[in-house]
Amino acid sequence: MRFLIFGPPGSGKGTYSSRIEKKIDVAHIATGDIFREAVKKDTDLGTRVKGYLDKGELVPDELVNEVVKDKLESIGMDKFLLDGYPRTVEQAEYLDGFVDVDALILLDVTDDIIIKRLSSRRICKECGEVFNKLFNPPEKEGVCDKCKGKLYQRDDDKPDVIKDRIETYEQRSEPVIDYFKGKIPIIINRCRKADAPIDEMVNSIIGQLEEEELVS
Ligand code: AMP
Repeated sequence: MRFLIFGPPGSGKGTYSSRIEKKIDVAHIATGDIFREAVKKDTDLGTRVKGYLDKGELVPDELVNEVVKDKLESIGMDKFLLDGYPRTVEQAEYLDGFVDVDALILLDVTDDIIIKRLSSRRICKECGEVFNKLFNPPEKEGVCDKCKGKLYQRDDDKPDVIKDRIETYEQRSEPVIDYFKGKIPIIINRCRKADAPIDEMVNSIIGQLEEEELVS
């Protein structure tokens, strides 16, 4: 089971992936989480990527490719759900060069949903758990349900950066869908409600994967 979960920022990739990994035997690997953790820990990688993350710009392909290959090698190149990668056709070509992916799960949402969701997203400073004031609020405002850490708003979830991230997605990332079209199944999950229940969406994705006999 080697899956990609793909969609614009705010489409729910991280939220759905962390639940999917609890239901089927895949490891959720999110490049955004790897980079944020590196920035938080002030590692060499963190120093190299911080500027890009702050501006909502893409980290250079060579650097992301290296990080992902190392990570996939460390888990034996199987049973993964890659979230946030590949984000350019160059990254897709690179990935395709060393591992065969079984399917791309495409989260199809509209721009107004993206903007609503991103501006109400909050993340735990300690454990990285994602909440959303709209459809997945914490029990106590500003506090993480899991570890009681403080919740914050990502700098790149602020309105002026959101616009740029959507533009980057349309220009650089959407062509990745065409790259995989005809090569692997594309499982399309359409969402037209900003506060669509998470479990419903997750069950629908897993149902589609089962229908295509992609889940073992
Ligand atoms: P995300 O949490 O997936 O929205 O990623 C947060 C930020 O990490 C992005 O805005 C980029 O700066 C960087 N990033 C994550 N994944 C990639 C990727 N595959 N290619 C380039 N930059 C990435």
